[in-house]
Amino acid sequence: MFSEVLDLSGSRHALPDLSKFICSRLGNTGRLHSDIHCAKSLGESILRQLSEERSATGGLRLSQSGACIKQLAYQYHHEVPNGMQIGAASKIAFTIGDITEAILVSALAECFDNPSIQLSGALTFAGKDQETVYMEVDCGQAGSGRVARIPGHPDGTMMVFSPDNATMYECILEVKSMSDYGYRKFVNSGLSSDDSYYSQVQSYMHCKGLKWAYLVAYNKSAGARDAEILDDGTWQPVPALKGQWIPYDHEHVLQTKDKFRSVINSRSPEDIQRPHSSNRKGQLAFPCDYCSYYKTCFPLCSEEVSESKWLTKSTKIKVIAGE
Ligand code: SF4
Repeated sequence: MFSEVLDLSGSRHALPDLSKFICSRLGNTGRLHSDIHCAKSLGESILRQLSEERSATGGLRLSQSGACIKQLAYQYHHEVPNGMQIGAASKIAFTIGDITEAILVSALAECFDNPSIQLSGALTFAGKDQETVYMEVDCGQAGSGRVARIPGHPDGTMMVFSPDNATMYECILEVKSMSDYGYRKFVNSGLSSDDSYYSQVQSYMHCKGLKWAYLVAYNKSAGARDAEILDDGTWQPVPALKGQWIPYDHEHVLQTKDKFRSVINSRSPEDIQRPHSSNRKGQLAFPCDYCSYYKTCFPLCSEEVSESKWLTKSTKIKVIAGE
């Protein structure tokens, strides 16, 4: 369960397909034994969702490394949110996401701990031991010493080894839920540098001085009978999890630092140009339609409801009786 991965210089590395190890563990019955997430800490993460403020006010965070620069400026300057609301549906989604992430991380930790599984390495700074890392962004004139420290919380740090155990890789672990569309795109073409998760893991690698990150994703609206039809006409179930090794990209980190610097040095959100516009139909598309400030950013916008004329397209496994 290893595959060959290229870094940005084109060098080849044999790295484990961790999502397959996790799937294999979850496919077995038996209680998870990892103490990274005990039943108590899982329960606490559920209760925290009901008290935690996930409003868009407050400080910048590394999880926002790929966010719209103007959205960050609204947040940084404490603009009152006026757009997409965080309500009960979002809370339920966040809670389910936290629990799923905890279970996936625990399953991976157990794969490392189990001598009968051929996976050398270790998982640290995960679950209750999750650490805070900081990106330092120089915000003043050269030598002024004015530095912003932007915090982030990677899901974990791992040590993994090449198949012959000759090379050790220390890397970031990040677990993400994705929409059905986003997940199928990720399964088929992987993460690109335009994806916000790419920026986020780059920032984490930078803070920890690491050269690799592994992002494992799951489809938050997956059904057990979801399938995909391949180019040759055959089909296969959509994998429950998919992972990708991502090498460190220093140029990308410099762009992220520039973005945070521009936000911090702005006098108001109006100093920052709006980087997105409406689509050909005059509608706001992602990320604007999920933004907490779209009514401020597009003051003439209005909301309307329309029914889709088409049934949602889906690809499901059907069972033919054959009699
Ligand atoms: S509405 Fe769009 S352009 Fe405006 S702040 Fe939000 S994401 Fe950025």
